Amino acid sequence: MYLCACYSIIMKKFTVPGNYRSPLIAAIKNKRKQDDKMKKDFSPTLLDFGAVQIYLARHFGFCYGVENAIDIAFRTIEENQGKRIFLLSEMIHNPQVNADLQLKGVQFLQNTRGEQIIPFETLSKDDVVIIPAFGTTLVIQEKLNAIGIATEKYNTTCPFVEKVWNRSEQIAKKAYSVIVHGKPMHEETRATFSHAAFSSPTIVVNDMEETIQLSKYITGEKSPLEFYSEFKGRYSEGFDVERDLQRFGVVNQTTMLASDTQSIADYLKQIMIQTYSLTEATVEERFAETRDTLCYATNDNQTAVYGLLQTAADLAIVVGGYNSSNTSHLVELCEEKLPTYFINSEDKIISSGCIEHFNFHTKEEIITESFLPVSTPVKILLTSGASCPDAMVEGVIAKLVSFYTSTITIDKIIEEFS
Ligand code: SF4
Repeated sequence: MYLCACYSIIMKKFTVPGNYRSPLIAAIKNKRKQDDKMKKDFSPTLLDFGAVQIYLARHFGFCYGVENAIDIAFRTIEENQGKRIFLLSEMIHNPQVNADLQLKGVQFLQNTRGEQIIPFETLSKDDVVIIPAFGTTLVIQEKLNAIGIATEKYNTTCPFVEKVWNRSEQIAKKAYSVIVHGKPMHEETRATFSHAAFSSPTIVVNDMEETIQLSKYITGEKSPLEFYSEFKGRYSEGFDVERDLQRFGVVNQTTMLASDTQSIADYLKQIMIQTYSLTEATVEERFAETRDTLCYATNDNQTAVYGLLQTAADLAIVVGGYNSSNTSHLVELCEEKLPTYFINSEDKIISSGCIEHFNFHTKEEIITESFLPVSTPVKILLTSGASCPDAMVEGVIAKLVSFYTSTITIDKIIEEFS
């Protein structure tokens, strides 16, 4: 849905450092795009190296918002030589990109949980502060503006995140409260919460379990008094659980799992229908019909993983930052089907017999031995998150191929697709 509305935005070209690009992936993506201009084919691309066959998802890697943010950030550094340059927090959830910016002298003011690293009080109006792709809260924006820092000048907030803010505002104007489906501590959700709360009573739910608990305050199964401790830190100031859950709409963090958001919205809609004896025709009296606010990249990448999983394979590898929401959802989908390894660099493939990978459930890196099967051909599904440079995916392919004797080289594959 967003794709059509924002097609002109998506076509824009950005300048990103050449070391993030990959000739192999560029050739493949260009060919697939030419052959499927309407983006209807979600089947993977087979890279057949003989003993190892790599199935590459139809869509993966840098999205519009990430390329836009990288373009602005590196341009800002060029244009402001001699000035102190700060990023509010990680610009995107990719360790390589963030490290590259730090190498160029950029300093982070906060960590990804919003904890202060450098106090705002030490900033002056001559400093440059870049707002990350996730956007920021109104409180932080006002604090920076009060120092004299023009936050709109170096603002990399993704337009798809701003769309969610606009959607919340539209709902608020019709006197609905806003329920945000998102990870409460994620930068984007904190920003969306702040913007939504400016115009309307707002609450954040993380998942279906929390939604079910929230619904018990709608049906009267739970005492309103319990709400304020159960959802502490999740609701806007002055939120009245008895008044503000009588009429609402649902928006979401742009990178949630599409099926989760759909289930949550459907569940809450049914709760409102039953509680207030509504019908499909009258439900809008109390439940704003908003379609999900996932962005096009989340939709494309998740749909491409469903396409990828149609292929029987030995394992899947997902590449991306460990704190990247969109990447972890791709891992979640793959894990349901086959052994899946979530890595943030090709260096995590230590040898043909050993991989160090991230378990996002326990939030720790673990080592798995014998991750590649002995019998060939080995079939591997491969994808990456929206903040992962294509060069890293090519690095993973090169590393995997190096473990096997093959007459097919990466250059030969580039030739085939060019
Ligand atoms: S994942 Fe979507 S919302 Fe996030 S930066 Fe990319 S395009 Fe924007």
